Amino acid sequence: MPDPTNGWQKTLCPYCGVGCGLLVQIEDGVVRRVKGDADHPSSWGDICAKAVHLAPTLRTPDRLLHPQVRARRDAEPARVPWEFAVRFVADRLREISAVHGPDAVAFYGSGQLLTEEYYVASKLAKGFLGTNNFDTNSRLCMASAVAGYARSLGSDGPPGSYEDIESADCFFLIGTNTADCHPVTWKRIRKRKLAAPDEVSVIVADPRWTETADIADLHLPLRPGSDIALLNAMLHVLWKEGLLDQDFIAGHTGGWSELRPVIARYPPDRAAAITGLSAEIIVAAARRFGGARAAMTLWSMGRPSWSSSRTPTTRPRPRASPTCCSRRRSGPRRTAS
Ligand code: SF4
Repeated sequence: MPDPTNGWQKTLCPYCGVGCGLLVQIEDGVVRRVKGDADHPSSWGDICAKAVHLAPTLRTPDRLLHPQVRARRDAEPARVPWEFAVRFVADRLREISAVHGPDAVAFYGSGQLLTEEYYVASKLAKGFLGTNNFDTNSRLCMASAVAGYARSLGSDGPPGSYEDIESADCFFLIGTNTADCHPVTWKRIRKRKLAAPDEVSVIVADPRWTETADIADLHLPLRPGSDIALLNAMLHVLWKEGLLDQDFIAGHTGGWSELRPVIARYPPDRAAAITGLSAEIIVAAARRFGGARAAMTLWSMGRPSWSSSRTPTTRPRPRASPTCCSRRRSGPRRTAS
């Protein structure tokens, strides 16, 4: 049995959704060093600056390491033993629930909780206290994405995997500054692009020019909130130019006959007026995507949050549409918060 207070231990980076594997060196219960875990499949030993600086972050003097309780609401918090703190919280929860009902208690979880921790917290809230009021920032940030997954793919999990990066020959990045937000994934994409610059193309749809756009063959600086018009127009081009796999559509998708009249309304010229892009660059992006052997779509919160909340209302609002009609599997990563 490994000693958890000494030696190198495997764990995961707590920061972003890339979920890089870490090795942390612990001496007498204190984290001294952090490095990448070469065996971990999402990162292969790579990490970014945020994880490199984890060790000193864990040792900051203002870190809360012990439970504290206020004797009165206006009193300074005082350190108490764990047993006291747990009993104190349990008594208060029981009291509130008895007087006001279980729905008077609400839980708010962190996106940094692990699956097992979510399970235990949900059991406590729903199974024992009987309150349905359990929310987390991960639900807030993923709600629109999950609704989109369920509606377009029939399941709320992203269909892509990190291994797809090494196989892809076209990356379509929309609503994401991957270089800054998910540097380890970005390094894999960049490495793939630089290893075969003529074979691999990168399309970045983002109103801003970011470091992610530095390696783009095509940068589409669309107007904020016009993503759906761009996507519908790209699908329009794929459809009109026969770049869709009709067998795949017939065998594995639903709603194509309802979608077709929607994308029929989005020729590149119309999408150009909505997005502020040229019709030519929309056509070029669609052709690159449709002509690829293995295209991969990646996005992060810039896309679902923005396009759902800021689609211009003065223009006809397109219906949400399936995005799996390309002949390629387009698979986003687990989006990061
Ligand atoms: S990319 Fe950086 S912040 Fe994100 S999981 Fe990996 S090491 Fe952590």
